[in-house]
Amino acid sequence: MGPGPSNPYPEVIEAFTRPVMGHLDGAFLDLLDETCDRLRAVFRTGNTLTFPVSGTGSAGMEAAFVNVVRTGDAVVVGVNGVFGERMCDVAARCGAEVVRVDADWGEPLDPQRILDAHPAPAVIAVVHAETSTGVRNDLAELGAAKGDALLLADCVTSLGGIDVRLDDWGVDIAYSGTQKCLGVPPGLAPVSVSPRAVERMRCRPQSWYFDMGMIADYVTGGGARAYHHTAPISMIYALHAGLGVVLDEGLEESHCRHQRCGDMLQDELEARGFSLAARAGARLPQITAVRVPESRLPPSMTEADVRRTLLDHYGIEIGGGLGPWAGQCWRIGSMGHTARRRNVTLVLAALDAVLG
Ligand code: PLP
Repeated sequence: MGPGPSNPYPEVIEAFTRPVMGHLDGAFLDLLDETCDRLRAVFRTGNTLTFPVSGTGSAGMEAAFVNVVRTGDAVVVGVNGVFGERMCDVAARCGAEVVRVDADWGEPLDPQRILDAHPAPAVIAVVHAETSTGVRNDLAELGAAKGDALLLADCVTSLGGIDVRLDDWGVDIAYSGTQKCLGVPPGLAPVSVSPRAVERMRCRPQSWYFDMGMIADYVTGGGARAYHHTAPISMIYALHAGLGVVLDEGLEESHCRHQRCGDMLQDELEARGFSLAARAGARLPQITAVRVPESRLPPSMTEADVRRTLLDHYGIEIGGGLGPWAGQCWRIGSMGHTARRRNVTLVLAALDAVLG
Protein backbone atom coordinates (compact mmCIF):
# COMPACT_ATOMS: atom_id res chain seq x y z
CA MET A 1 0.00 0.00 0.00
CA GLY A 2 1.75 3.16 -1.16
CA PRO A 3 0.97 6.74 -0.32
CA GLY A 4 -2.36 7.67 -1.92
CA PRO A 5 -5.15 10.14 -1.45
CA SER A 6 -6.00 8.77 1.97
CA ASN A 7 -3.25 6.33 2.93
CA PRO A 8 -0.51 7.75 5.15
CA TYR A 9 3.09 6.70 4.62
CA PRO A 10 3.52 2.92 5.19
CA GLU A 11 6.13 3.74 7.87
CA VAL A 12 3.49 5.72 9.77
CA ILE A 13 0.91 2.93 9.51
CA GLU A 14 3.50 0.45 10.73
CA ALA A 15 4.31 2.70 13.70
CA PHE A 16 0.73 2.43 14.95
CA THR A 17 0.99 -1.35 15.04
CA ARG A 18 4.00 -1.43 17.41
CA PRO A 19 3.53 -2.69 20.97
CA VAL A 20 2.72 0.15 23.34
CA MET A 21 5.53 0.82 25.83
CA GLY A 22 5.22 2.56 29.18
CA HIS A 23 5.68 6.32 29.03
CA LEU A 24 8.66 6.16 31.41
CA ASP A 25 10.23 3.14 29.72
CA GLY A 26 13.84 3.99 28.79
CA ALA A 27 13.32 2.74 25.23
CA PHE A 28 10.33 5.02 24.80
CA LEU A 29 12.21 8.00 26.26
CA ASP A 30 15.03 7.39 23.76
CA LEU A 31 12.48 7.45 20.94
CA LEU A 32 10.94 10.63 22.37
CA ASP A 33 14.39 12.26 22.48
CA GLU A 34 14.99 11.27 18.86
CA THR A 35 11.56 12.65 17.92
CA CYS A 36 12.50 16.00 19.52
CA ASP A 37 15.81 15.97 17.57
CA ARG A 38 13.88 15.37 14.36
CA LEU A 39 11.53 18.23 15.23
CA ARG A 40 14.54 20.53 15.72
CA ALA A 41 15.70 19.54 12.24
CA VAL A 42 12.37 20.32 10.54
CA PHE A 43 11.86 23.54 12.51
CA ARG A 44 15.51 24.41 11.74
CA THR A 45 16.28 25.34 15.30
CA GLY A 46 18.68 24.59 18.09
CA ASN A 47 15.97 25.29 20.73
CA THR A 48 16.31 22.82 23.60
CA LEU A 49 12.62 23.22 24.45
CA THR A 50 11.24 21.52 21.35
CA PHE A 51 8.71 18.74 21.80
CA PRO A 52 5.28 17.46 20.76
CA VAL A 53 2.46 18.84 22.92
CA SER A 54 -0.17 16.14 23.50
CA GLY A 55 -3.13 17.65 21.67
CA THR A 56 -3.97 18.98 18.22
CA GLY A 57 -2.65 22.17 16.60
CA SER A 58 -5.02 24.28 18.71
CA ALA A 59 -3.40 22.83 21.83
CA GLY A 60 -0.09 24.12 20.48
CA MET A 61 -1.67 27.55 20.00
CA GLU A 62 -3.06 27.58 23.52
CA ALA A 63 0.20 26.32 25.03
CA ALA A 64 2.17 28.99 23.18
CA PHE A 65 0.04 31.90 24.41
CA VAL A 66 -0.71 30.75 27.93
CA ASN A 67 2.96 30.37 28.81
CA VAL A 68 4.13 33.83 27.80
CA VAL A 69 1.15 36.19 28.00
CA ARG A 70 0.46 37.99 31.29
CA THR A 71 -2.71 39.92 32.11
CA GLY A 72 -2.57 43.34 30.46
CA ASP A 73 0.25 42.46 28.03
CA ALA A 74 -0.05 44.07 24.63
CA VAL A 75 -0.21 41.31 22.03
CA VAL A 76 -0.22 42.34 18.37
CA VAL A 77 -1.97 39.76 16.19
CA GLY A 78 -1.96 39.75 12.39
CA VAL A 79 -5.38 38.63 11.15
CA ASN A 80 -6.17 37.60 7.58
CA GLY A 81 -8.14 34.44 8.16
CA VAL A 82 -9.78 32.11 10.66
CA PHE A 83 -6.63 31.10 12.47
CA GLY A 84 -5.48 34.68 13.09
CA GLU A 85 -8.98 35.26 14.54
CA ARG A 86 -8.50 32.24 16.77
CA MET A 87 -5.19 33.65 18.01
CA CYS A 88 -7.01 36.85 19.06
CA ASP A 89 -9.53 34.82 21.03
CA VAL A 90 -6.86 32.74 22.75
CA ALA A 91 -4.72 35.81 23.58
CA ALA A 92 -7.77 37.66 24.98
CA ARG A 93 -8.61 34.68 27.20
CA CYS A 94 -5.04 34.91 28.56
CA GLY A 95 -5.85 38.50 29.61
CA ALA A 96 -3.94 40.22 26.82
CA GLU A 97 -4.71 43.65 25.44
CA VAL A 98 -5.14 42.41 21.88
CA VAL A 99 -4.05 44.78 19.11
CA ARG A 100 -5.36 43.42 15.80
CA VAL A 101 -3.80 44.23 12.47
CA ASP A 102 -6.18 43.06 9.77
CA ALA A 103 -5.59 42.43 6.11
CA ASP A 104 -8.31 41.51 3.64
CA TRP A 105 -8.84 37.79 3.26
CA GLY A 106 -6.72 36.56 0.37
CA GLU A 107 -4.11 39.27 0.99
CA PRO A 108 -0.88 38.74 2.95
CA LEU A 109 -0.24 40.70 6.15
CA ASP A 110 1.86 43.85 5.88
CA PRO A 111 4.81 43.34 8.29
CA GLN A 112 5.41 47.09 8.68
CA ARG A 113 1.83 47.71 9.81
CA ILE A 114 2.25 44.95 12.38
CA LEU A 115 5.51 46.44 13.62
CA ASP A 116 3.95 49.91 13.81
CA ALA A 117 0.81 48.77 15.61
CA HIS A 118 2.15 49.14 19.16
CA PRO A 119 5.32 50.78 20.55
CA ALA A 120 6.24 47.94 22.92
CA PRO A 121 4.22 44.75 22.53
CA ALA A 122 5.07 41.74 24.66
CA VAL A 123 4.23 39.39 21.79
CA ILE A 124 3.74 39.65 18.04
CA ALA A 125 1.71 36.72 16.71
CA VAL A 126 1.21 35.67 13.10
CA VAL A 127 -0.06 32.61 11.23
CA HIS A 128 2.66 31.60 8.78
CA ALA A 129 0.40 29.60 6.46
CA GLU A 130 -3.26 30.73 6.73
CA THR A 131 -5.14 27.55 5.89
CA SER A 132 -8.48 29.35 5.53
CA THR A 133 -7.26 31.50 2.62
CA GLY A 134 -4.17 29.77 1.18
CA VAL A 135 -2.00 32.81 1.95
CA ARG A 136 1.61 32.84 3.18
CA ASN A 137 2.54 35.52 5.72
CA ASP A 138 6.25 36.20 5.89
CA LEU A 139 8.00 35.99 9.25
CA ALA A 140 11.60 37.05 8.59
CA GLU A 141 10.91 40.80 8.46
CA LEU A 142 8.99 40.62 11.73
CA GLY A 143 11.77 38.66 13.41
CA ALA A 144 14.42 41.12 12.25
CA ALA A 145 12.56 44.17 13.61
CA LYS A 146 10.59 42.76 16.58
CA GLY A 147 12.74 44.58 19.17
CA ASP A 148 11.94 43.36 22.65
CA ALA A 149 8.78 41.51 21.63
CA LEU A 150 8.57 37.75 21.35
CA LEU A 151 7.61 36.54 17.87
CA LEU A 152 5.01 33.76 18.05
CA ALA A 153 4.25 31.84 14.83
CA ASP A 154 1.57 29.34 13.86
CA CYS A 155 3.34 26.82 11.64
CA VAL A 156 0.50 24.26 11.60
CA THR A 157 0.20 24.20 7.82
CA SER A 158 3.71 25.36 6.92
CA LEU A 159 5.97 22.84 8.66
CA GLY A 160 7.33 20.31 6.17
CA GLY A 161 5.56 21.97 3.22
CA ILE A 162 7.40 25.27 2.84
CA ASP A 163 10.56 26.73 4.30
CA VAL A 164 10.41 27.23 8.08
CA ARG A 165 13.56 28.64 9.74
CA LEU A 166 12.90 29.50 13.35
CA ASP A 167 16.46 30.51 14.26
CA ASP A 168 17.30 32.42 11.08
CA TRP A 169 14.00 34.30 11.22
CA GLY A 170 14.03 35.10 14.95
CA VAL A 171 10.85 33.18 15.79
CA ASP A 172 10.61 32.70 19.57
CA ILE A 173 7.66 30.35 19.87
CA ALA A 174 6.28 28.18 17.11
CA TYR A 175 3.71 25.43 17.07
CA SER A 176 2.51 23.06 14.40
CA GLY A 177 0.23 20.08 13.90
CA THR A 178 0.95 16.57 12.74
CA GLN A 179 -1.84 16.21 10.17
CA LYS A 180 -0.77 18.69 7.54
CA CYS A 181 2.54 18.60 5.65
CA LEU A 182 4.16 16.12 8.05
CA GLY A 183 1.75 13.46 6.78
CA VAL A 184 0.85 12.01 10.19
CA PRO A 185 -2.69 11.69 11.59
CA PRO A 186 -3.94 14.51 13.83
CA GLY A 187 -3.19 14.41 17.53
CA LEU A 188 0.10 16.13 18.37
CA ALA A 189 1.28 19.73 18.25
CA PRO A 190 5.05 20.08 17.79
CA VAL A 191 6.19 23.18 19.70
CA SER A 192 9.53 24.97 19.88
CA VAL A 193 10.53 27.76 22.29
CA SER A 194 13.67 29.92 22.07
CA PRO A 195 15.90 30.44 25.13
CA ARG A 196 14.76 34.09 25.16
CA ALA A 197 11.12 33.00 25.40
CA VAL A 198 11.96 30.36 28.02
CA GLU A 199 13.39 33.15 30.20
CA ARG A 200 10.13 35.05 29.87
CA MET A 201 7.82 32.09 30.44
CA ARG A 202 5.28 32.54 33.17
CA CYS A 203 5.67 30.76 36.43
CA ARG A 204 2.42 28.82 37.08
CA PRO A 205 0.41 29.86 33.99
CA GLN A 206 -3.41 29.56 34.25
CA SER A 207 -3.29 26.19 32.47
CA TRP A 208 -1.95 23.23 34.43
CA TYR A 209 -1.89 20.86 31.44
CA PHE A 210 0.00 23.23 29.16
CA ASP A 211 2.49 24.49 31.76
CA MET A 212 5.63 24.14 29.64
CA GLY A 213 7.89 24.48 32.65
CA MET A 214 6.41 21.27 34.04
CA ILE A 215 6.22 19.48 30.70
CA ALA A 216 9.87 20.32 30.06
CA ASP A 217 10.93 18.24 33.06
CA TYR A 218 9.40 15.20 31.40
CA VAL A 219 10.10 15.70 27.70
CA THR A 220 13.41 17.44 27.29
CA GLY A 221 15.49 14.75 28.87
CA GLY A 222 18.45 14.81 31.24
CA GLY A 223 18.19 13.89 34.90
CA ALA A 224 15.17 12.12 36.27
CA ARG A 225 12.04 12.32 34.11
CA ALA A 226 9.12 13.42 36.25
CA TYR A 227 5.65 12.14 35.41
CA HIS A 228 3.52 14.96 34.02
CA HIS A 229 0.88 13.24 31.92
CA THR A 230 0.75 9.93 30.13
CA ALA A 231 2.24 10.55 26.71
CA PRO A 232 0.18 9.30 23.74
CA ILE A 233 2.74 6.62 22.92
CA SER A 234 1.41 5.43 19.54
CA MET A 235 1.04 8.99 18.23
CA ILE A 236 4.66 9.68 19.15
CA TYR A 237 5.76 6.52 17.34
CA ALA A 238 3.81 7.81 14.33
CA LEU A 239 5.31 11.30 14.49
CA HIS A 240 8.79 9.81 14.85
CA ALA A 241 8.16 7.71 11.75
CA GLY A 242 6.60 10.56 9.76
CA LEU A 243 9.49 12.89 10.55
CA GLY A 244 11.86 10.10 9.50
CA VAL A 245 10.16 9.95 6.10
CA VAL A 246 10.37 13.74 5.68
CA LEU A 247 14.03 13.88 6.68
CA ASP A 248 14.95 10.87 4.53
CA GLU A 249 13.31 12.57 1.57
CA GLY A 250 15.12 15.78 2.55
CA LEU A 251 13.42 18.97 3.68
CA GLU A 252 14.31 20.83 0.49
CA GLU A 253 12.96 18.01 -1.64
CA SER A 254 9.78 17.87 0.42
CA HIS A 255 9.29 21.61 -0.09
CA CYS A 256 9.98 21.25 -3.84
CA ARG A 257 7.48 18.40 -4.11
CA HIS A 258 4.80 20.54 -2.42
CA GLN A 259 5.69 23.47 -4.70
CA ARG A 260 5.52 21.35 -7.86
CA CYS A 261 2.11 19.97 -6.91
CA GLY A 262 0.77 23.37 -5.87
CA ASP A 263 2.00 24.99 -9.09
CA MET A 264 0.51 22.24 -11.21
CA LEU A 265 -2.86 22.45 -9.45
CA GLN A 266 -3.04 26.24 -9.49
CA ASP A 267 -1.92 26.55 -13.13
CA GLU A 268 -4.40 23.93 -14.26
CA LEU A 269 -7.25 25.50 -12.29
CA GLU A 270 -6.53 28.90 -13.83
CA ALA A 271 -6.27 27.33 -17.28
CA ARG A 272 -9.81 26.00 -16.70
CA GLY A 273 -11.05 29.50 -15.87
CA PHE A 274 -11.22 29.10 -12.08
CA SER A 275 -10.35 32.10 -9.99
CA LEU A 276 -7.81 31.63 -7.20
CA ALA A 277 -8.64 33.45 -3.99
CA ALA A 278 -5.15 34.18 -2.64
CA ARG A 279 -3.05 36.97 -4.10
CA ALA A 280 -0.40 35.80 -6.60
CA GLY A 281 3.03 35.93 -4.98
CA ALA A 282 1.65 34.99 -1.56
CA ARG A 283 0.00 31.70 -2.53
CA LEU A 284 0.80 28.60 -0.57
CA PRO A 285 1.47 25.49 -2.62
CA GLN A 286 0.00 23.13 -0.02
CA ILE A 287 -3.48 24.68 0.22
CA THR A 288 -5.26 26.25 -2.70
CA ALA A 289 -8.32 28.43 -2.14
CA VAL A 290 -10.40 28.66 -5.30
CA ARG A 291 -13.64 30.58 -5.75
CA VAL A 292 -16.69 28.37 -6.27
CA PRO A 293 -17.46 28.52 -10.02
CA GLU A 294 -21.17 29.30 -9.54
CA SER A 295 -21.90 29.47 -13.28
CA ARG A 296 -20.44 26.00 -13.80
CA LEU A 297 -22.24 24.11 -11.06
CA PRO A 298 -24.49 21.47 -12.64
CA PRO A 299 -28.21 22.34 -12.39
CA SER A 300 -29.64 21.32 -9.03
CA MET A 301 -26.19 20.89 -7.45
CA THR A 302 -24.92 23.19 -4.70
CA GLU A 303 -21.22 23.66 -4.07
CA ALA A 304 -21.60 21.32 -1.07
CA ASP A 305 -23.15 18.68 -3.37
CA VAL A 306 -20.08 18.91 -5.62
CA ARG A 307 -17.76 18.36 -2.67
CA ARG A 308 -19.92 15.47 -1.47
CA THR A 309 -19.84 13.88 -4.95
CA LEU A 310 -16.06 14.18 -5.10
CA LEU A 311 -15.86 12.35 -1.80
CA ASP A 312 -18.48 9.69 -2.53
CA HIS A 313 -17.45 8.90 -6.12
CA TYR A 314 -13.73 9.60 -6.14
CA GLY A 315 -12.61 9.39 -2.51
CA ILE A 316 -11.38 13.00 -2.69
CA GLU A 317 -12.15 15.37 0.14
CA ILE A 318 -11.84 19.07 -0.55
CA GLY A 319 -12.60 21.66 2.11
CA GLY A 320 -15.41 24.18 2.03
CA GLY A 321 -14.83 27.85 2.71
CA LEU A 322 -14.53 29.00 6.32
CA GLY A 323 -15.94 32.10 8.00
CA PRO A 324 -16.96 34.76 5.47
CA TRP A 325 -15.86 32.48 2.65
CA ALA A 326 -18.31 29.70 3.59
CA GLY A 327 -20.15 28.65 0.44
CA GLN A 328 -17.92 30.86 -1.70
CA CYS A 329 -14.61 29.03 -1.76
CA TRP A 330 -13.19 25.56 -1.96
CA ARG A 331 -9.91 24.70 -0.32
CA ILE A 332 -7.86 21.95 -1.95
CA GLY A 333 -5.07 20.57 0.18
CA SER A 334 -1.96 18.97 -1.28
CA MET A 335 -0.01 18.16 1.83
CA GLY A 336 2.43 15.60 3.16
CA HIS A 337 1.83 12.16 1.67
CA THR A 338 -0.99 13.54 -0.50
CA ALA A 339 1.24 16.04 -2.34
CA ARG A 340 1.74 13.85 -5.45
CA ARG A 341 1.22 14.71 -9.08
CA ARG A 342 -1.09 11.74 -9.47
CA ASN A 343 -3.41 13.15 -6.81
CA VAL A 344 -3.41 16.53 -8.54
CA THR A 345 -4.27 14.79 -11.80
CA LEU A 346 -7.04 12.88 -10.06
CA VAL A 347 -8.64 15.91 -8.42
CA LEU A 348 -8.59 17.86 -11.70
CA ALA A 349 -10.08 14.97 -13.64
CA ALA A 350 -12.75 14.45 -10.99
CA LEU A 351 -13.66 18.14 -11.02
CA ASP A 352 -13.89 18.03 -14.81
CA ALA A 353 -16.16 15.02 -14.62
CA VAL A 354 -18.46 16.46 -11.97
CA LEU A 355 -18.66 19.97 -13.41
CA GLY A 356 -18.86 18.74 -16.99
N1 PLP B 1 -3.71 26.84 12.87
C1 PLP B 1 -3.87 26.59 11.55
C2 PLP B 1 -3.14 27.45 10.56
C3 PLP B 1 -4.65 25.52 11.12
O1 PLP B 1 -4.79 25.27 9.81
C4 PLP B 1 -5.30 24.73 12.09
C5 PLP B 1 -6.16 23.62 11.67
O2 PLP B 1 -6.45 23.42 10.52
C6 PLP B 1 -5.11 25.04 13.44
C7 PLP B 1 -4.32 26.10 13.79
C8 PLP B 1 -5.78 24.22 14.49
O3 PLP B 1 -5.31 22.91 14.45
P1 PLP B 1 -6.19 21.68 14.97
O4 PLP B 1 -7.43 21.64 14.14
O5 PLP B 1 -5.28 20.51 14.74
O6 PLP B 1 -6.48 21.91 16.41
